[in-house]
Amino acid sequence: AHGHDAGDVLLREIGRRLATCVRRDDILARLGGDEFAILMPGAGSAAVAEAAHRILAAVEQPVTIGAPAASVSASVSASVGAVLAYPGQRRADLLSEADAAMYRAKALGRNRYVGPGGEDGGGPGASGSGGRRPDTDAGAWRASPPSSPPSPREARLARDVPGAVARGELRLQYQPLVRLSDGAVTGFEALVRWQHPALGLVPPLDFLPLAERAGQAAEIDAWVVETACRQFRAWNTDASLVLLLAVNLSRAHFHDPAAADRVAALVHRAGVPPGQVVVEITERVLEHDAPAAHATIARLRELGLRLALDDFGTGFSALASLGHLPLDLLKLDRAFVHGLGRSGPAFEVTQAVVTLAHRLGLQVVAEGIETQAQYDILRGLGCDIGQGFFMARPLDPDAAALLAQHPPPSSAPAWT
Ligand code: C2E
Ligand code: MG
Ligand code: MG
Repeated sequence: AHGHDAGDVLLREIGRRLATCVRRDDILARLGGDEFAILMPGAGSAAVAEAAHRILAAVEQPVTIGAPAASVSASVSASVGAVLAYPGQRRADLLSEADAAMYRAKALGRNRYVGPGGEDGGGPGASGSGGRRPDTDAGAWRASPPSSPPSPREARLARDVPGAVARGELRLQYQPLVRLSDGAVTGFEALVRWQHPALGLVPPLDFLPLAERAGQAAEIDAWVVETACRQFRAWNTDASLVLLLAVNLSRAHFHDPAAADRVAALVHRAGVPPGQVVVEITERVLEHDAPAAHATIARLRELGLRLALDDFGTGFSALASLGHLPLDLLKLDRAFVHGLGRSGPAFEVTQAVVTLAHRLGLQVVAEGIETQAQYDILRGLGCDIGQGFFMARPLDPDAAALLAQHPPPSSAPAWT
């Protein structure tokens, strides 16, 4: 609110105050942003709690920022989490446990301390009862539970996700879409991964929800569309071979009126014909603000992109939306495919869905085909396209390029 210089003044002042709260041999460090760490060799729970309360009190005092003539008084609060190290513990684990304790303190509200026992240490003004509220059902008092504290890994991912695109840490893999009748590759679905410097390759479902909460979803989507189109264009050089490129868009996108035009512009700029790009939407998109989502979907179609309803069968709005959305493809969720036999209820339901989709002019894609038997049954049911580990796992761009340019002869595909 007061500019970067004011932020620097505030950080320096807080740092100076923290230094007054620790013992001579303690180590005080700024980890980054507004996070500080203190290492207290030889200290037990009591000494740590004492230091934590000194810190909360010191941080709470207002900070004066700016020239005396135009100074402002800023008030901040701290969340303090502490853990005890044990012999042989790795430094990274110690830090992430402390991180998790700090997040638990944050979840309890402003100015809190969570100590090694995980207890709510309370703030200076909390008089021991802050964070506790009457449990009216049982008529007793107990500490209010923190709202499901994140694991150390989650906390780390949440902290690091905002800069992931800018640091160039995102990667794409491509999973082939296979025509079931002859085994030919008809396209690829781009799937995002995060190559985290410390935690390794992070799957999308572990970080996309965090990115959405941090307001980062649109930035990631734009990176995915742009990168996928650029990579795809490089391998899609054979004009006789019209491949599809499927991309997933986050929920946040569908409630932003300008999103469809932004996506189409990225596709256009990359030089990929819009008719070869399939935008996958999960039916859960339609559960909130359906009119806005419908408008975005209609606009994408107007701009020449194709649309697929992803994870069909996992939400509640699926059947109702089939009739009035301008869709091209229906992707049967892998839960359908998993329980599929040559007869029985799953078989009947799948058969009915395939028939219904075809009546509505949609092609059906079966997700998660893992066995030859599933492949054969789905082909027998007239399902058009399949995707799954049986044919191929998601591939790195080089491997996908190779497959796109040198497909196995369709009379004898590798997977049948
Ligand atoms: P999805 O769009 O339904 O993608 C298919 C997921 O099923 C992928 O998981 C894929 O690796 C997995 N899969 C494919 N074949 C099989 C199989 O035979 N067996 C099993 N067990 N799994 C199979 P992945 O890559 O972990 O992606 C999970 C979800 O994350 C995606 O589901 C999609 O909803 C989301 N996602 C992935 N990439 C992006 C992206 O770039 N943007 C957005 N917004 N969401 C994405
Ligand atoms: Mg998908
Ligand atoms: Mg899916």
